[in-house]
Amino acid sequence: MTLSRRDFLVTTSFALGTVAHAFGQNTAAPPAPPQTSFDPLRGSVGVFSGRGGTIGMLVAPDGVVVVDTQFQDTAAIALSNLRQWTPRTIDFVINTHHHGDHTSGNIVFRPAAAKIVAHRNVPALQKTQAAGAKTDAQQAYADTTFDTAWSEKVGGETVALKYYGPGHTSGDSVVTFQNANIVHMGDLLFYLRNPRVDRAAGASIKNWIVLLETVSKEHPADTIYIAGHSKVNHPFTVTRADVLKFRDYFAGLLAYVQKGIASGRSAAEIVKVVGVPGFSEYEGSPEGTIQAAYEELTAKA
Ligand SMILES: [Zn+2]
Repeated sequence: MTLSRRDFLVTTSFALGTVAHAFGQNTAAPPAPPQTSFDPLRGSVGVFSGRGGTIGMLVAPDGVVVVDTQFQDTAAIALSNLRQWTPRTIDFVINTHHHGDHTSGNIVFRPAAAKIVAHRNVPALQKTQAAGAKTDAQQAYADTTFDTAWSEKVGGETVALKYYGPGHTSGDSVVTFQNANIVHMGDLLFYLRNPRVDRAAGASIKNWIVLLETVSKEHPADTIYIAGHSKVNHPFTVTRADVLKFRDYFAGLLAYVQKGIASGRSAAEIVKVVGVPGFSEYEGSPEGTIQAAYEELTAKA
C-alpha cells in the first residue's frame, strides 16, 4: 500500500473537525487541536509528527508497525488515521526509549497492538519516571524486551532493533526497516537541536559519539534517518552526513567543556555560552547539554 499525504490530510481534517465540533457546544474557547502531519518516505514507511518524538509507521496489507507513541491526544489521531488505511492489528508497537513524549501514547495503542517491544532497560526506567510523575495508571509497558538485538519479519519487511549501549538514556533502540532502508533513531538523533542527555537514566555522551559512527557505518550510504526531534521548520528525516555532523557536535561539546575544566572554570561559567562553539545554529539553550557533559567528564569512575 502506498501512503499519500493527500489521504492523510483528508482523514486528519475529519478527525480534527470532529473535535472542534464537540468543543463547539461550550462557550469557553476550545483548546487548540494538536497540529499533526504525515510524510510518506519510502516503501510502506512514513513519519508522523505531532507533539513529542516523531512516530515511524510501517503500513502494509501484510504488516503494521508503529515506532514510538507520543502523547495520548496525538496517539489517538495517529491511530485513527492508521485505521483509515487498514483494519489490521498492529504487529508491533516499538518504544525507542522510555521518555514520556515517546511512550505516553502506549495506552492508546495497547488495545490495537499484538506486542509492545523495547530494550530490556525501558520498562523499569518508564516505571520510575511514571512513579515520579504519578502517572502509573496511564502507562502501558513493553511486554517484549531484548538485550542486544531483535528482529522480526513483518509481511514483506524486516524490522530490526539494536542496542549500542548508553547514549541519550541506557535503553535506546535503533530501529531499522531493512527493505525500505529507513532507520528510526529515536532520541539518539536530534537534528539541529541541543539534545537532552538523561544522566539519571544512564546516558553517556562518550558512547553516544561511538554509536553514531557505528550506526552510520552499519547502514548503506542512502539510508533515510528519522530524528526523534528536529529544529522548528526543519525536516525530521536526514542523511548519513547529518548523523555524522551530530557526532561532531558531541565531539565539539566535550572538547569545549574539557578545555573549560582544564582552565579551572566552574560548570556555571562553562554553561554561559550562546551555543556549543561551532554549532550555534542548534536550537534551544545548550545549558543542560553542557551541564551533562561537565558532569560526565568530572564524574568519579
Ligand atoms: Zn528522549
